[in-house]
Amino acid sequence: MTAPTPLVERRKIGALTVHAIQAGGQKLDGGAMFGVVPKPLWQKRIPADERNRIQLGMRCLLIEHPSGLILIDTGAGNKEDDKFKDIYGLENEGAGGVTMLEDGLAQIGVRPEEVVIVINTHLHFDHAGGNTRSGRDGSVQISFPNATYIVKRGEYEYATNTNERTAASYFERNFTPVEAAGKIEFVSREKEIVKGIRVIPTPGHTPYHQSILIESVGERALYLGDLAPTASHLPLPWIMGYDVEPLVTLETKRRILKQAMEEDWLLIFEHDATTAWGRVEHDGKAYRLRT
Ligand SMILES: [Zn+2]
Repeated sequence: MTAPTPLVERRKIGALTVHAIQAGGQKLDGGAMFGVVPKPLWQKRIPADERNRIQLGMRCLLIEHPSGLILIDTGAGNKEDDKFKDIYGLENEGAGGVTMLEDGLAQIGVRPEEVVIVINTHLHFDHAGGNTRSGRDGSVQISFPNATYIVKRGEYEYATNTNERTAASYFERNFTPVEAAGKIEFVSREKEIVKGIRVIPTPGHTPYHQSILIESVGERALYLGDLAPTASHLPLPWIMGYDVEPLVTLETKRRILKQAMEEDWLLIFEHDATTAWGRVEHDGKAYRLRT
């Protein structure tokens, strides 16, 4: 398996142009990705490799907003070593740039310095790893030096006070340098960041996980983050084993997917290797992607 393509997919949400940037491939244990769902069911949707891992993506979203360029999540970055990348099946090295995220931005014609807002759904390494980058001299630099980073206050505290279960996903080099540079704007609840771009609490994967609701000219889209990482996670009980509060995830999904279906939101999938977005329907038994 190789990193998912295409690198960039573009569409309109109302009057806004958005670009889904595939910031790399990732392979995680299929059982862990589907929690209590038995393998005979999940492998029909996403087949496992010989190490029982399934192919995932790490899709970021760039929004062309009148107030400037907004980037949602930053992939895994370039600071991890080969052993780590092998364990998690990370394939995110750029052809010309530092990472595939930077290559994607370049393909769109955007330099990292031009991004004015970065929003993190949460601070796990595969979502916030690209917040910072390793420079040629090995120093850790801010990847988007002119951006304000929007981070949930509780998530930051959770990420900097880990326990034996949570520590493997949080690396301080991904976020404490940003805080030290005074670049983080902390949020604590639902908030409109700029017109039509709103962070909303979607707890469960982590207690302070947030998703991003994009609204323009009557059209709504939701960047789910890890609330439903792939389109295969739309059925309510298909919840990752990684979630720290799976029953909270269940109730968040129940509430959000109901509203998404009733109001015909476009859903944007961060980890789906092939499907960037789609709308949801209910077939009488479970939610699924509308085809
Ligand atoms: Zn994730």
